Amino acid sequence: MLSEKLVNELNEQIKFEMYSSNLYLSMAAFCFSNDLDGFGNFFVVQAEEEKFHAMKFFNFLNDMDGDIIMKAIDDPSSEYSSILDVFNAALQHERGVTARIYHLMDVAMEEREHATISFLKWFIDEQVEEESTFKTLVTKIKRAANDDNLLYTLDSELATRTFTPPAQ
Ligand code: MG
Repeated sequence: MLSEKLVNELNEQIKFEMYSSNLYLSMAAFCFSNDLDGFGNFFVVQAEEEKFHAMKFFNFLNDMDGDIIMKAIDDPSSEYSSILDVFNAALQHERGVTARIYHLMDVAMEEREHATISFLKWFIDEQVEEESTFKTLVTKIKRAANDDNLLYTLDSELATRTFTPPAQ
């Protein structure tokens, strides 16, 4: 049985993953309104991924007989000055997510809650991927800052991204 502390932390994480999903939709909206539909598609897919993350925590809590509590989600920022600004904000956000996952892992390890430790390992690996994806895109967008052709090539590449739920 999970401790009350761990149940609370996992419920907070469901809320945070849902917030991440909404944040990425607000970033998608910025891209669409600036005629960067490929970048917009990238963020729509990213938002779906975050909802999938929320459901992983939801299903885990359910499997562990923890009380699931859906909470109000904070408003995400919707003020961006450029596509580079958006991706810098996304990278910063993912670094914050990694810190939260590490915190959850610290709590699980303090409590020697092995099922939770095992469950969280997937997210530790996932964050390496997420940060790497955004770091690469920030670099590419910086390169494309003064080159519209490069920016639209990148936009076309990202238009092909689709959401495939990873195997459990
Ligand atoms: Mg996530």
